[in-house]
Amino acid sequence: MKLVRGLLSAAWLALISGFSCEALADLEDGKLKVFVSNYPLAYFAERIGGHRVAVSLPVPAGEDPAFWRPDPEAISRMQKADLIALNGADYEKWLNRVSLPRLKQVDTSAGFKAAYIRIENAVTHSHGPGGEHSHDGIAFTTWLDLAQAGKQAEALALGVIRKRPELKAVFLENLSGLQADLKVLDDELLKLGEAKKNQPLLGSHPVYQYLARRYGLNLKSVHWEPNEMPPAAEWVALDETLIRHPARTMIWEAQPSPEIAARLKEKGVSSAVLDPCAQRPEQGDFLSVMQANIANLESTP
Ligand SMILES: [Zn+2]
Repeated sequence: MKLVRGLLSAAWLALISGFSCEALADLEDGKLKVFVSNYPLAYFAERIGGHRVAVSLPVPAGEDPAFWRPDPEAISRMQKADLIALNGADYEKWLNRVSLPRLKQVDTSAGFKAAYIRIENAVTHSHGPGGEHSHDGIAFTTWLDLAQAGKQAEALALGVIRKRPELKAVFLENLSGLQADLKVLDDELLKLGEAKKNQPLLGSHPVYQYLARRYGLNLKSVHWEPNEMPPAAEWVALDETLIRHPARTMIWEAQPSPEIAARLKEKGVSSAVLDPCAQRPEQGDFLSVMQANIANLESTP
């Protein structure tokens, strides 16, 4: 009874003070508060938990979650969450500098730790508001191997079930629907990989390691940004690469600027977007972005 009254007065407070729906949801409760560190995990949590979870991706729009650092407010909100779903594979570089309750964390890729790809000879470069960074250590775009994505979804589901065991059946059913969708993507990519076998490809950024391994793509990556014209030395290096690795397509995280695309085209290299979808898309969702990626890759020469 006391709880019901609390809820009612919370709703009333929200009404009279013009709180946003989100604030009201926070006041209400009953929903499991799940924090996630990238959009694929947000999508998985939303599919698995449905209306029973409130999913928070604390990274501002336009920022790459892989190079984001939580501010004190984000940390305190995470500490109050019921569950903190992490990508693992070195994705959360901030993790060992903040104190979060161990029991609330679920490292969604820990189950396939042995399959992590180590990056050798990484170079430091800069992009985005985070400034300089390097891709040394472990490759972290684990979900671009859609079979691995399915395992991450499962780990997340187990974390949610641990917190709400009474809803186990619902969560498992939602998980199996999600995994079926991920498997469709995985199968399509396997077919596509078979068709493109041995065909040299270029990546604009070192984020496609798991994609290349799972789907057998013959990929070499540079460190370019879609909206920054690479310096002269990069174009010279590209010419040298193209002698040994005669690629006719470069895959990009986002549409490259027309100037870059045109200059590549002069070298016989087309551009295709393969968005890792680490951040919440402006349109569609994880599945539709991955479908668009597959269509883009399919239409490459
Ligand atoms: Zn980078």
